[in-house]
Amino acid sequence: PEYRRAEFLTSAGKFAQCPPDEGWEVAFAGRSNAGKSSAINSLTGNRKLARTSKTPGRTQLINFFVVGEQQRLVDLPGYGFAKVPEAVKREWTRQLESYLQQRQSLRGLVLLMDVRHPLQAFDQQMLGWAIAADMPVHILLTKADKLKNGPASNTLLQVRRQLQDRSDMISVQLFSALKHTGHKELRKVLDAWLTD
Ligand code: GDP
Repeated sequence: PEYRRAEFLTSAGKFAQCPPDEGWEVAFAGRSNAGKSSAINSLTGNRKLARTSKTPGRTQLINFFVVGEQQRLVDLPGYGFAKVPEAVKREWTRQLESYLQQRQSLRGLVLLMDVRHPLQAFDQQMLGWAIAADMPVHILLTKADKLKNGPASNTLLQVRRQLQDRSDMISVQLFSALKHTGHKELRKVLDAWLTD
C-alpha cells in the first residue's frame, strides 16, 4: 500500500452502501476528538483527506480511501454522540456491528484513544464488538506528546496490562501526529493487515 497516494473513494451512509467487499480494508475508529483525522492525515501526508468526515451533516458517514489495488483505509464515524438522538445512536450501533461482523475485506481495526483518557466506555464497547467478530485491534494512544516520556510509557504498560488476556488480538502503541512518533510502527501493522 502507498499511504501517501491515498485518495477518497466514496462515503457510505449505512453498511449496505459500502463499496464491493473485495480486497483488504483497515478501519479507524475513536471517540470524537481522539485524534483520528490528524492520524489519518499524517499517515497519508494529506491534510485535507479526512476532513470530509468532519463536514457538518456528513459526520455519520463511513468514508473509504484507496491506498492501493483493492486496499482501503476506512474512516468510521467519530461518535461525538452526546447530542445525537437515542434512535440514531441505536441505528449506528447496529450498522457498526454489521460492518465489523460481516465485512469480509476488513482485516483489522485501529482504535484511537487520547493517551490521557484511555479505555473509555466507547472504547470498551468497540473492543467488545471486535473480539466478538474475531477482528484484530491495534490501539493508538494518541497525542503522546501531551505527556512526558515517563507517564506516557506508564500508560502504555497499564493499557497493555489491562488487555493482556487478549494480547493475541490486541496490540497497543504510543502515537503523536504532531511529533510524528509511532508512524513506522503503525505502518508495519497496516502493511501486514493489508497484504497477508
Ligand atoms: P478527531 O475528532 O478524532 O478526528 O480528532 P482530530 O484529529 O480533529 O483532533 C482533535 C484535536 O486534537 C485537534 O485540536 C488536534 O489538533 C489535536 N491533536 C490531534 N493529534 C494530536 C497530537 O498528536 N498531538 C497534539 N498535541 N494534539 C493533537
